[in-house]
Amino acid sequence: MGKKIIALDAGHGMGTAGKRCLQSIDPAQTREWYLNDRIADRVQELLGAYDCSVLRVDDTTGTKDISLANRVKTANNAKADIYVSVHHNAGINGGSGGGTVVYYYNDAQMRAKAQRLYDAVVGSTGLIGNRSSKVIANGFYVIMHTTMPAFLLENGFMDSTKDTPIILTADHAEKTAQGIVSFLAAELSLRKNDDGQQGGDESNPSGDQSGSLPDKEETYYPAYTGKKTTLAPALAGIGVNSSYSFRAKIAAANDIKGYIGTAAQNTRIYNLLVAGLLKRV
Ligand SMILES: [Zn+2]
Repeated sequence: MGKKIIALDAGHGMGTAGKRCLQSIDPAQTREWYLNDRIADRVQELLGAYDCSVLRVDDTTGTKDISLANRVKTANNAKADIYVSVHHNAGINGGSGGGTVVYYYNDAQMRAKAQRLYDAVVGSTGLIGNRSSKVIANGFYVIMHTTMPAFLLENGFMDSTKDTPIILTADHAEKTAQGIVSFLAAELSLRKNDDGQQGGDESNPSGDQSGSLPDKEETYYPAYTGKKTTLAPALAGIGVNSSYSFRAKIAAANDIKGYIGTAAQNTRIYNLLVAGLLKRV
């Protein structure tokens, strides 16, 4: 078995209409995307300490609201092991209730996992609230159409006088991220990167001089770790042909059909590249 793959998304795009904190509580009307993305980014960072790949199926700059269908497709094509979608809730309309909810799709096994995610997040943040159900079955697109266990976290309410001041804090974001990561580490039995060499299918006890590359390097381009935020410069940065025609070949090799170089298509390829999951041509 290869590395576990964790698919993550930060809910909506930055500009998605209506998704922001209630003005009477937060005069800045902080956007939901900002709150979601701050947590998703931190989850990704914390997971860097583990032997796993993180696949952002959204646009991490928030500029483009990647369609839900494309998010799902990217996760399914990469055969991700788990999918977590980070959101913040609304519907209290200035009331004082609130709290955390985790949505899942389907069966009792998923419900048990959703409960463990809820417990991990709330155990870390303490944001319990007054929801009658904390773990709820729902047919939300990304949890229904993904082929791996998938969960949608609503991490407190953007229109609750109790929740909103809390969810705006960096401390709450950090605790949420830590809760999500502790859930993922336990659920997928992730190993810390410095846990020694036992049992790792990619470890090489003799240290070097290996006669053949590990499978992963033959299958995927090396993960891009540089600072470029768009596809062509990132490809160039790892010495891969970044021309339009070659990007079209890369798209085809990665099940991205009908490549015409749209921003959304390039973002999907870019996110695979960052995750080390972009299949070679
Ligand atoms: Zn949302």
